[in-house]
Amino acid sequence: MKFKRRKRRSLWIDVAFSSAIMAMTAFALLLIFNTSDSSTSASPNKIKEEPKPEVLINSSDSNFPGIKIVTETTNDPKQPFAIQYPQSEYEEFNSRILEYIDQWKTRYFENDENQDASAKELNISFETVQNQSGNYSFVILAAISTSETDIDSEIRTFHIQPETGKEIKMADLVGQDVEKLKRTAKVVRDHIYQNPDFKDVLLPENVWQPTEPLWRNYQNFALTDQSVLFYYGAGVFTEESEGPVTVEVPLEKLNPFLAADYQVEITEKPAGKKVALTFDDGPDPKSTVRILETLKKYDAKATFFMLGSRVEYYPEIAQQVAEAGHELGNHSWNHPSLTKLPDKKLYDEVQGTTDIIKQVTGEPATVFRPPYGAENERVRAITNLPVVLWDVDTLDWKHHDPQKLLAKVKAHTRNGSIVLMHDIHKSTADGLDSVLAYLQSQGYTFVTVSELENY
Ligand code: ZN
Repeated sequence: MKFKRRKRRSLWIDVAFSSAIMAMTAFALLLIFNTSDSSTSASPNKIKEEPKPEVLINSSDSNFPGIKIVTETTNDPKQPFAIQYPQSEYEEFNSRILEYIDQWKTRYFENDENQDASAKELNISFETVQNQSGNYSFVILAAISTSETDIDSEIRTFHIQPETGKEIKMADLVGQDVEKLKRTAKVVRDHIYQNPDFKDVLLPENVWQPTEPLWRNYQNFALTDQSVLFYYGAGVFTEESEGPVTVEVPLEKLNPFLAADYQVEITEKPAGKKVALTFDDGPDPKSTVRILETLKKYDAKATFFMLGSRVEYYPEIAQQVAEAGHELGNHSWNHPSLTKLPDKKLYDEVQGTTDIIKQVTGEPATVFRPPYGAENERVRAITNLPVVLWDVDTLDWKHHDPQKLLAKVKAHTRNGSIVLMHDIHKSTADGLDSVLAYLQSQGYTFVTVSELENY
């Protein structure tokens, strides 16, 4: 967890700030201590000796009812530390906190060979966050610095229901429901991919594992009135290790799967123009990858209607589409005209594609588009997925011309449009940047088809 200190780390400002406060507190307490000492045992002939390092422990009330702040500092210049942590009236909570603090002390005092001890410092500080439900989240930031640039650090969170002392976990937020945890994971992943802080340094393949929908991956969080903050270790998502990473997800986005206590009222936003870009017949190792890059540049989400046969052939590309947070659609296995198929073949075409998309990406296909738009009652009945067609046909498969692609989009796109393109043509990948630039200039935001209200 070692990393180099870099610019833009507001957390370190917090650390520096709280260290300064603690240093001042320690100084004030030292003054009091020394004053009382000299008044009781003033001895002019006493031989001067090195004062023994003192550890000062101070407990004070916080602004949060029932929560005390304990501060431990030392005047030992060789092994300085400033530690601050919360304590409550509940023994179980208190010992969990102390156990964690002790782990850091042990790490600090034991691993000190081969190091310049005078350059070392242990800092532990915390923030308290209260949610409308009444629950407290304590966000503890612990750091051992061996030099200006070399810091071993971690964020760890603890939760308590102040009236009962009950520990709060992610499962309490989403009601022990794994399906809801999965949807939470999807929202968190989307947020990471869209986070401007990670722009240029994000390694998409590194996001999948630490955000897998397992309860243990979602215990390190803080709950505010507006958002859930998820914390990850240094260098989890990025090549450069920058220290603990925070991903803040608005509660609005998690609302549909939160337990009632944690839901927020959703304020209606003024409706802007939306367009859903859709890409059929992929994935393709060349064009799809370029299209993903262009979409990312515009922070655009799209929907990819994939062929099962190509997902099987290019699983990594399908994974990249899913990891970038786009919607996945089923476009049949081999692209036949489904209305002409016998029942068994029809079923295999559709279900086989649903299965392989899930198997390869871990994400479900959420929409279905029959090849050529050819559908009837029998085709609709074969799947629970909503059938999605289009209203803007770019004919990119026919003309292979970026100019004509743009012209079609300009001529036909309106608010709520679904634009049909194909991510297997180089000309489409070539022309997409102009299409996105144009639509953005017209005030459109780019959404998946499921995000359109009426599709
Ligand atoms: Zn097609």
